[in-house]
Amino acid sequence: MSAPVPLAELVGPVIRDLARHSGKDLSRWLEQVARLGGCAEPVRLVGHSVTLDPDTGQVLGEYSTRHEPHGQLMIRCGNRRASRCPACAATYRADTYHLIRAGLLGGKGVPDAVRTHPRVLATLTAPSFGAVHRGPGKDGRPVVCHPRRNGPACFQRHTADEPLLGQPIDPGTYDYTGHVLWNAHAGDLWRRFTIYLRRHLAGLSGLSRSTFNRTVRVSFAKVAEYQARGVVHFHAVIRLDGRDESGATLPPPHWATVALLDGAIRSAVAAVHLDAPDLGQATTVLSWGEQVDVRPIEAGELAGGDELSEQKVAGYVAKYATKAAETSGTLNRRVKAADLPRLRHLGVTAHAERLIRTAWNLGDPLTYPDLVELRLRKWAHMLGFRGHFSTRSRAYSTTLTALRQARAHFRELQLAERQGRTPGSTLVLAHWSYAGQGYTPGESALALGFADSSGTSNHHRKELANVESRDGLPE
Ligand SMILES: [Zn+2]
Ligand SMILES: [Zn+2]
Repeated sequence: MSAPVPLAELVGPVIRDLARHSGKDLSRWLEQVARLGGCAEPVRLVGHSVTLDPDTGQVLGEYSTRHEPHGQLMIRCGNRRASRCPACAATYRADTYHLIRAGLLGGKGVPDAVRTHPRVLATLTAPSFGAVHRGPGKDGRPVVCHPRRNGPACFQRHTADEPLLGQPIDPGTYDYTGHVLWNAHAGDLWRRFTIYLRRHLAGLSGLSRSTFNRTVRVSFAKVAEYQARGVVHFHAVIRLDGRDESGATLPPPHWATVALLDGAIRSAVAAVHLDAPDLGQATTVLSWGEQVDVRPIEAGELAGGDELSEQKVAGYVAKYATKAAETSGTLNRRVKAADLPRLRHLGVTAHAERLIRTAWNLGDPLTYPDLVELRLRKWAHMLGFRGHFSTRSRAYSTTLTALRQARAHFRELQLAERQGRTPGSTLVLAHWSYAGQGYTPGESALALGFADSSGTSNHHRKELANVESRDGLPE
């Protein structure tokens, strides 16, 4: 890293520059920064909007970025990754928390009766691609890592913070190709699982598929998480609802129980298979790993002991949603050809480096034309996984978009109140274009100092802290 640039040297010109471009005082710039709520990489927009009365066509207000500092408006980047933007990731996490919670407790358009429906938290994992160093057991006590007579062995007892965890014991025999191909097909495996689950539920309840589908709806909310070994796995809230022709969410039939759901999840997981492209690797059939965890979700705030309360589940899922691939030692951005020789210098672990190189090689369209659709070079930094981090079926609960709209609507109400008009009675015509992203280094230093001293900018962090302490969001 180069030596830090003295703040004063940057801030001097920045303030001069800003003052020149923002009508002599910094108030408008400070206002913009305050509204960003601590966003680290704001998106810069140029454009204008006109607010009209929809009946008369009368212009009620006009806004143009021409009058903003530098002629640009900064808005929050909305990045989900905490390593890219802690403030926006915190908002994403809080939103995810609220929508998972709504799917469990009702509210935000979901009937409260969902609390009595069969619901579980299921964890679907990947199979083994070779022995990796293992951390402490579920009770937190260190266990002997991999005591084996044949094949790679390790007799140490590792603690939870050892960087060795998840790294192959013998990289020479590890199935890197199988691992990358599995990540690249994880989304397909999940899709197949959801189809099989409905079939297995119908089979176990002795109904035809069409009768089952007419009577019961299976709702999902899932998030992807990377294990230390660099393979993705899924946590999913799965709920059974009753339904009728109108599509309304009803209490499920009496035979639709947690036990039925548990059994069908396990048999559906075991039934999913996909043929992997044959590149001579050890793993030729892609399937789920043997470790399937299915835990019922109890109604109530304080399920004791090992029981999962609704609050706990919403907290877990929200936490996983902002934990990206970099926890497994990879990059938090796309890999470029120029990065390949210096991956280790960029902080990538030896194991993640081999996975990235494997993905990059398999992504060569001339050598592997059949793999083109997996877009493995584009997703090399994700170790092959190109799926969504969190998805929900339509009936599960509200959506992130709905939550964002609710926030935008709230701001609109505040604005309308200030302007003395009736909200929602206007028509906004706007044109925006992208002008860039991020602060200049000087601005960034200034904004950071400002964010630390400003209550407004800490608003989202505080909001989340409240949610965490009130609702027991686990660390
Ligand atoms: Zn941001
Ligand atoms: Zn070990």
